[in-house]
Amino acid sequence: MAAALSPLLSIRSDPAGAAQPHGHRPSPRSVPPPPHSAVATALVARRAPKLPWYRTERGRRWAVASCLLGLYFVTPFVTVGGRPLLGFDRTTLRLYVGGVGLWMDDLFLVLLAVLLGVALILLFTVWLGRVWCGWACPQTVILDLRDQLRALLRVRSRNGQAVRLAKRSTAELLFLLFNVAGAATLVAYVIPPGEIVARIRDNTLPFWAWATWGVTFTLLYGELLGLGRRFCTRVCPYAKLQGVLFDRATLVVEYDRTRMADCIDCKRCVKVCPTEIDIRDGLQVECIACGECIDACDAIMAKVGREPRLIQFHFGSTSAEPARVVRPAVVVLAVACVALTIGLVHAAVGRAPVEVSVLRDRFHLFHVAQDGRLMNSYTLVAENRTGAPVALTGWVEGIDGLELVLPHNPVSVAPGAVYRTRFVLVLVAGHRLAPGNHPVTVRLMTAESEPIRVAAATAFTVPEATERKPPRARGKTE
Ligand code: SF4
Ligand code: SF4
Repeated sequence: MAAALSPLLSIRSDPAGAAQPHGHRPSPRSVPPPPHSAVATALVARRAPKLPWYRTERGRRWAVASCLLGLYFVTPFVTVGGRPLLGFDRTTLRLYVGGVGLWMDDLFLVLLAVLLGVALILLFTVWLGRVWCGWACPQTVILDLRDQLRALLRVRSRNGQAVRLAKRSTAELLFLLFNVAGAATLVAYVIPPGEIVARIRDNTLPFWAWATWGVTFTLLYGELLGLGRRFCTRVCPYAKLQGVLFDRATLVVEYDRTRMADCIDCKRCVKVCPTEIDIRDGLQVECIACGECIDACDAIMAKVGREPRLIQFHFGSTSAEPARVVRPAVVVLAVACVALTIGLVHAAVGRAPVEVSVLRDRFHLFHVAQDGRLMNSYTLVAENRTGAPVALTGWVEGIDGLELVLPHNPVSVAPGAVYRTRFVLVLVAGHRLAPGNHPVTVRLMTAESEPIRVAAATAFTVPEATERKPPRARGKTE
């Protein structure tokens, strides 16, 4: 597939529609744009017809960003069967996804989820280019929000200095509060929101929570102040991948060079560009596919009475070539995503509702009682992954005359809890088992009509005859 993916971002489209490596031929901008006439200036000054939000890229982008922000802020408050929709329990080291608790031994599910995430990133990048950057990346959403806040409270020239200052301060304060809430929400994915409030009131919020809150806030707020949009073009590693992942049919923002005569060189597309590039120069690595230039140019086209979409989203960097929405690389990645999703769902649904393990007591493998019975010591670990308590009755199989002795039988395990208890296997006196380790199976079962059955394999150790002497009774002398 690597051969099929060309470093498209290092090339720019030429007027004829054929793409050439940048530097191999003169830049398309060497073709002079039409002069910006006085008539054009007058036309541009006219008010453009206002389009409904769903017909502008900015409106669509805000709809997507609002949904994602809503999801981010609301998710910590949502529970499924009393468990977080998405969250991490630091005390049990358990990850909750969709109300399902993933234990440490479910890490293969996490691995599958990571693989699915990588495949989705590859699919969306190869297919839809930088839609993540311009439409969903928190960096872009937050910066857009800041710009929108400032624009909403934009000061008109007739306002006095005090009013301007008050409006600007209000915008900055709202932005600061948004970042405080955004950073707190990240902590809420680990500590439930209600518990955060109670712990702050009691002054018992742990240091790591304060640190996470502070660092996240500093990154959100301080990074924006420090780097801003330059993060996208100079720091972000995902942006650096674009040149490798794009192919010749990836969705990009394209200046339609077949309609160059319609451009009045008003430079509105350049003025609104958050990364300060001129898309008329062709596709550039700085372009985050936000579509601001599309809206700006459409407004100009409406004012001068020409067809919209002189700048547009297009599959491929030139309108001269037909758009190839479905292509082999996209199909392969889509199939991989579907397969991984099916595997992930199947693995998650097929997990045992109760997991048990039996650990041997390595320091006291066996013990011979006064009456000659032989005992081995173990620890039982039972994890209840259901949303209801379970009562498990245990027994042992594998050796005749071997008995399972638990402190409590049945074993009660609370929903979502891990129960540990020591127990012994007792073999009757006078057995005829040979010395060595004998495989046995500890089984547990609930008492319902459709019982949960679990089992754990272990071994029972029979010592050599010389090691079997029972301990002497206390108080006796020889
Ligand atoms: S906004 Fe449109 S008309 Fe104005 S310079 Fe850009 S491409 Fe040309
Ligand atoms: S060129 Fe257009 S789509 Fe690309 S970053 Fe600038 S405004 Fe956004």
